Amino acid sequence: MKKDYKCIVVKVGTSTLTHKTGKTNIRRMEELVSVLSDLMNSGRRVALVTSGAIGVGIGKLGLEARPSDTAGKQAAATVGQCELMFMYDKMFSQYGHTVGQLLITRADMDNAKRRYNLLQTFDRLFSFGAIPIINENDAVAGEESVYGDNDRLSAAVSTLIAADALIILTETDGLYTADPSVSEEARRIPVVEEITDEILAFAEGTTTGLGTGGMATKLVAAEICTRAGIDTYIICGKSPRDIYEVLDGGDVGTYFKAKGQDQ
Ligand code: GLU
Repeated sequence: MKKDYKCIVVKVGTSTLTHKTGKTNIRRMEELVSVLSDLMNSGRRVALVTSGAIGVGIGKLGLEARPSDTAGKQAAATVGQCELMFMYDKMFSQYGHTVGQLLITRADMDNAKRRYNLLQTFDRLFSFGAIPIINENDAVAGEESVYGDNDRLSAAVSTLIAADALIILTETDGLYTADPSVSEEARRIPVVEEITDEILAFAEGTTTGLGTGGMATKLVAAEICTRAGIDTYIICGKSPRDIYEVLDGGDVGTYFKAKGQDQ
């Protein structure tokens, strides 16, 4: 069944946006930007939660490894964030779209006044026809009061703007019963009606290359969103065109059904 989502949040992770070298994966970014531009052209509101600032910063600074200290990661993020926004700005403008950058911390979301301000900004950006591009404000977030991963941040953004759907792009095409790169028995779970302990156990020990979250934080995001009535999907970022499949109701990735729906 086709999905009539009017407001969609898409979250893309570092491993999807970058090569192992830490340099941006231009082909994927271009495909993602073309799909999101098309969704905007169809009249939908789209917000993009992007990771990759630290990963791209590492690549741009030519560091041999990810800094182990907070200041090093924060500094890398400031470099990578510029590069990411430069690329998004350039790519979206090819399709006639304008980007707005929002760097958010958990403290911002937890504070009623700042939350209100943020929501006002989102609303205005949408009415201007621009696409909000969000990341955690890594330079100031430090180690306390951080989301630390953009999965939870994307859930917070989705609930703030009352999105209809959150689509998380990652390295595997959904949630599996075991690690598909290790076990031949692993099978994809196409639909999750309820996030049970058994479902949570499938996520244990998963990680993604340069990113931070793995599957566990994606399930936390799915739990927050589905409880708030927001459909959530985990699909493969290697092919951003699969977002069309989601909207066409195709069998792609894992679909976590929002509570209070029977579709
Ligand atoms: N804010 C981090 C960055 O842009 C990403 C956190 C995550 O990987 O989820 O590098």
